[in-house]
Amino acid sequence: GFHGTSHRFIAGRSTEILGAGKKVIVCHLGNGSSLSACVNGKCVDTTMGITPLDGLVMGTRCGTLDPACVEFIANTENKTVTEVVNMMNKQSGLLGLAGSSDMRDVTARFDAGDKDATLALDMWAYTLKKYIGSYAAAMGGLDAIVFTAGIGENDKALRRRVCAEMDYLGIAINEDLNENGPRGQELDISAEGARVKTFVIPTDEEYMIALDTKRLVEK
Ligand code: AMP
Repeated sequence: GFHGTSHRFIAGRSTEILGAGKKVIVCHLGNGSSLSACVNGKCVDTTMGITPLDGLVMGTRCGTLDPACVEFIANTENKTVTEVVNMMNKQSGLLGLAGSSDMRDVTARFDAGDKDATLALDMWAYTLKKYIGSYAAAMGGLDAIVFTAGIGENDKALRRRVCAEMDYLGIAINEDLNENGPRGQELDISAEGARVKTFVIPTDEEYMIALDTKRLVEK
């Protein structure tokens, strides 16, 4: 589904790195964000639903909510269902919470002590941690998590925040590698001896599209 090309690339690359049969959570974190739970390179669950609104807090999307919120907001704000869903897609997430959909702006405001930005980052990381824990439970274990896309590949502070206090699950990162590892390359940022590997892998959707096109043309 949504971000499927990226998830497929990262799931495939993780299998090449780790070998067959592993349980991996792919964290595609960009303006749109999604997680997938992959067993042996195959996606068994994803945070995206019939539309990309489900799951994580994103740049402008709210992510998972009580479905009854739609009716509640429609009634209290005198809006149609279409208007509420539009609001949830285009005016929510980081934009609704902190006034900008761009993580770099929100982070700069957080660094300056802004309360709304602090709430937005707390919610963003909390949701992500919650899904990582639930996918580990659903798969009955976890071998690796992979960060990818604009935020996942570049935002060291958010990777640190998401991986903090996750040692109960076996996730622990090497702070120095996370902070100073080269950008734009595959990185293993796991702490020595961590039960679960943590990688940063640049996604390559263009490569997957080219590969799929080649397969179709050669059929
Ligand atoms: P994408 O949709 O994958 O292009 O990712 C866009 C998101 O990545 C935006 O929220 C950007 O603010 C964020 N992003 C890109 N570069 C960086 C960076 N160096 N540090 C933090 N966030 C970044």
